[in-house]
Amino acid sequence: MYRNFSIVPKIMFGRGSFNQLGDVIGERRIHPDSYFVFILDDVFIGKPLQKRLPMQAKDLLLPVNVDDEPKTSYIDSLVQKIRDYSQVIPDGIIGIGGGSAMDIAKAVSLMLTNPGSSADYQGWDLINNPSVYHVAVPTLAGTGAEISRTAILTGPVKKLGINSDHTLFHQIVLDPELLAGVPTDQWFYTGMDCYIHDVESLSGTYINEFSKAYGEKSLDLCRQVFLEDHPDKDDKLMMASYFGGMSIAYSQVGACHALSYGLSYVLGIHHGIGCCIAFDYLEEIYPEGVKEFRRMMEKHRISLPRNLTAGLSEEAMQLMVTTALNLAPLWENCLGPDWQKLMTRERCLGFFHRM
Ligand code: NAD
Ligand code: ZN
Repeated sequence: MYRNFSIVPKIMFGRGSFNQLGDVIGERRIHPDSYFVFILDDVFIGKPLQKRLPMQAKDLLLPVNVDDEPKTSYIDSLVQKIRDYSQVIPDGIIGIGGGSAMDIAKAVSLMLTNPGSSADYQGWDLINNPSVYHVAVPTLAGTGAEISRTAILTGPVKKLGINSDHTLFHQIVLDPELLAGVPTDQWFYTGMDCYIHDVESLSGTYINEFSKAYGEKSLDLCRQVFLEDHPDKDDKLMMASYFGGMSIAYSQVGACHALSYGLSYVLGIHHGIGCCIAFDYLEEIYPEGVKEFRRMMEKHRISLPRNLTAGLSEEAMQLMVTTALNLAPLWENCLGPDWQKLMTRERCLGFFHRM
């Protein structure tokens, strides 16, 4: 069966394009009593970007904290805040920040029109009602969250996205100027998420010409960004993120992402750095990719944390293994249909012990 998937219908790209956000959402200010909600990563509170938000009198600013990656309980509390603010559903949600703030904006816009808790919708195509109009303005590049049909959430029993066509943003504004000022470590970790998407997509068994076309271009841009020096590297990284996301949309990620989910679920390690930690131990699966990744780390003087699993209980280690191995499509993409014979619990545990 071929997948028939939607993509983001409206895209604006370019330096300073953020200045046009007010015009873009102006067309969507439909109801006189209505308002927009600006979901802003709280790293920007009190910073110039906050003053540049095209907010009108009735609009609501909702600063979000992403020290922890988004949880279903957090989404539910934000939705409640909006309901407390007004009985009217907003005309739109604007998510401004990295992958976490973008996923929060996606999930909130879905939960304003679907009953219950966001935890009820962790899975595939469980959303029944279209979301509120929602827009992404990325301030970090690499996750591909701006174009993906998932909002990744940690719930009471699992870390799993709300995957649906309704999750997709209606509009994205890609302004490379907004990447200025990202600390080098964070820039690198989130950028490597994109590089790893490309390596895992291109070397996977699910690869096809569609994913290859996007993955190869994204990989080429990542090499320019992380191994060369270009004044427009932020423009390149933003497009690499978009193309990397398009590549995995029609293929899949692999071993590194599966292991990073285990690290994240048990140790709360964030996605980008978790992928870097796991990738560094995967030379036997991605030999060329890991060598190149280490050259990139060296060039940017990145050192990764070690001995993360040293003092962990057997129970915690086993939970990490279970979390990773539950992601069957990732392993099948990486190792083929017989992956269970190749990636036993013992082998998977071995990877985690080395981290
Ligand atoms: P992030 O959004 O978690 O942010 C990381 C840190 O960078 C935060 O402290 C944030 O405040 C800060 N930050 C953001 N923009 C900044 C800027 N311009 N300047 C300075 N600091 C800034 O990081 P991320 O790597 O972009 O996203 C990771 C998240 O994305 C995870 O929650 C992960 O689950 C999710 N994710 C989603 C998808 C998807 O398809 N939906 C894909 C991959 C990852
Ligand atoms: Zn990723």
